[in-house]
Amino acid sequence: MKVLFVYPGFQRHAASNPELLEYVPMKEYLGSPSLGLAAIAGATPRDWAVEYRDDRLQPADRPTDADVVAMSFFTPAASRALQLADYFRAQGKKVVAGGIFPTMMPDEVQPHVDAVVVGEGELLWPGLLRDVQKGELRPRYVAGAVDVDELPPPDLSIYFGSENEEFRPDDYPLQVSRGCPLTCHACALPGTMGPKARALPMSHVLAQARQIAEGGRRACLTEDTGWLPGTAGSKRMIELLKHLVENGRPLTVSYIGISMPMILAAPSNFLKLAKDAGVDMFYLVGGFDPVTMNAFSGENPRAYLRAVDAIKKSWDHGIEPYTSFLLGNEGDDEGTVDRMLSFATESGIKKAEFAVFTPYPGTPSWHKLVAEDRILTRDWSKYNDANVVFKPNKMSPEALHQGYLRLWREFYAARPEVRERSEYERTIQF
Ligand code: SF4
Repeated sequence: MKVLFVYPGFQRHAASNPELLEYVPMKEYLGSPSLGLAAIAGATPRDWAVEYRDDRLQPADRPTDADVVAMSFFTPAASRALQLADYFRAQGKKVVAGGIFPTMMPDEVQPHVDAVVVGEGELLWPGLLRDVQKGELRPRYVAGAVDVDELPPPDLSIYFGSENEEFRPDDYPLQVSRGCPLTCHACALPGTMGPKARALPMSHVLAQARQIAEGGRRACLTEDTGWLPGTAGSKRMIELLKHLVENGRPLTVSYIGISMPMILAAPSNFLKLAKDAGVDMFYLVGGFDPVTMNAFSGENPRAYLRAVDAIKKSWDHGIEPYTSFLLGNEGDDEGTVDRMLSFATESGIKKAEFAVFTPYPGTPSWHKLVAEDRILTRDWSKYNDANVVFKPNKMSPEALHQGYLRLWREFYAARPEVRERSEYERTIQF
């Protein structure tokens, strides 16, 4: 028997707004796929043959001799994923869907597939494949949050094997924990992985690190949960950083996700440890947490100063703060664009990206905006941070979109020196 793993395509900023290419002097970077399919590949019994297709590189709707097609996707890829599901089912294949969007919107996905996996699917995957063999595949499998001690490591070789000269991502995600006890309004992570932080066993983290290092790549730690003081995720992050320091950096880290309140809360020795472990860049989202939301809405001058302090603290520890600004929160108005631009200048941010606030299904914001009848479209391909899909609170949808374009344009117009930076330094995922 054979399973075909498919990573469905989606649009990024420049594809949705081609004018960005005229005034953003950055090199577009097609990043590595999310960990979802590699995690399921790692849990696939050895007697199953495996094939992998990245729909972003070549359209995946081509004939296959696989018996089962498995897709993992988030909201920006949902429209394309459902199209692909229809194609493969018309070819007589069994189609299984999991990941963030199917977990949050299983009823939306169900008519297009044979089975929806809700929650973390690794541990039920072998049983699901046995159900396929017996002809007893069920329409819904509900996993919830798994016992992380039981998890096999992901199998990144399916991704490495799909690379070519045009597509060879420099970094791949490494996960240290799952779940989060906080409820940030725009975040889907607690909804998909549960409200409890669960640290992956160190052996699991090191197995991921080994695969990435042996593949000659760097690791990106995209989630910010490793910085929540006192949590299992934070303890594991510290353990990983210490391991890198004590063993002569056997793995290079491209960046770690963090927020400005987390930088402010982090003891200096934690930031120093990150730097000693080779972390030269943080990936921050401004406008996602209470400090920066208040700073950019203009409602709290003290919050603005605290945000400036956070960026300064990052620089002071030798770590570049690459910041993604989120425009369109409830407190944002047209003046927020100027406040973000001033903030970027005042705090010395050199590299930034800009996103339109997007109410992703399953987030607290999604539930609020649905209840208030403020969702403008359910075309999931537009849920990609580059389109306005809801009615903003203090400006029109058009003003929000224009503000987002102005941020890109004016931030980079004010930094002509960016054009002189190396190609690597000019690389962002836009
Ligand atoms: S943004 Fe980070 S801290 Fe907030 S809920 Fe999501 S994972 Fe937790």
